[in-house]
Amino acid sequence: MQPTEQIWMSGRFVPWAEANVHVLTHGLHYGTGVFDSLRVYATPSGPALVHHRSHHERLRDSAKLYGMELPFSVDELVDATRTLVRTCGLSESYVRTIAFRGSGAMGVSPRSSPVEVAIATWGWGAYLGEDAMTRGIRAKVSSWRRIGHGTHLPGAKATAHYLNSVLARVEAEELGFDEAILLDDDGLLAEGSGENLFLVRDGTLLTPSLASGALGGITRLAVLELAAALSIPVAERPLTRGELYLADELFMTGTAAEITPVREVDGRPIGSGARGPVTQAVQQAYDDAVHGRDSRFAHWLDVL
Ligand code: PMP
Repeated sequence: MQPTEQIWMSGRFVPWAEANVHVLTHGLHYGTGVFDSLRVYATPSGPALVHHRSHHERLRDSAKLYGMELPFSVDELVDATRTLVRTCGLSESYVRTIAFRGSGAMGVSPRSSPVEVAIATWGWGAYLGEDAMTRGIRAKVSSWRRIGHGTHLPGAKATAHYLNSVLARVEAEELGFDEAILLDDDGLLAEGSGENLFLVRDGTLLTPSLASGALGGITRLAVLELAAALSIPVAERPLTRGELYLADELFMTGTAAEITPVREVDGRPIGSGARGPVTQAVQQAYDDAVHGRDSRFAHWLDVL
């Protein structure tokens, strides 16, 4: 990771190397943090923050789900992010916002630990590698189940949830795969360790419903919007492992992962075992939209 000059910390811009927290930070011990990420893409009119407001709104909702009152409004976070991205000097970057319980009393109750917020930005290329974007990745159905509605609030993007993602991702990598696919407690498809899932079957795009515990991805919604523009039928519903193996095409979506094709699951080729035409069309449409080449999606962009 190449540091940029400054990080925004609870209302102040501080040098990258000085953006530190105390070791007795509540969030570090008990996972009481929520975060969100967005990407900035170069467009003909300048750098554009994609779905900027939606990401801060999801951060606000994640905080609300876990009873954290954010000391900054969405408008204030939007302003701070714009200033940070403008001053970092990059035309394309990744922005990470985190809100967490700071240091107060030690103990599970977070109430006396103040909520701190930080925003950082840095350059970040293709999450699963450049090669993955054309060739596709090899995924494994994880032995770990996605966190559920009975134990967590899976709709929140919370730091603690990522131990589940880490278990799945590490298992997949150690077995020689690129990424994991997690099932829910009923054995139905949920999502990747940091991505939503889309299957293509007989020309229809299928994605697991959020009842599976999948995060309500902003890229997932963007793909549903693109599918409408491309006249691709879509269905959001419970999906089985069998449907995964029988898919004609499969791809994952995320702010970091963008639209990443999956060519193989558990050693079984998906469709032809190469990136399929629907995946490629969605990838191209997404790329055009985020780079400001398709005016139908100008509302996705906060151009600086
Ligand atoms: N699921 C998980 C578990 C994630 O971490 C992410 C990345 N934020 C996603 C799905 C995709 O969400 P988004 O498209 O909003 O980045």
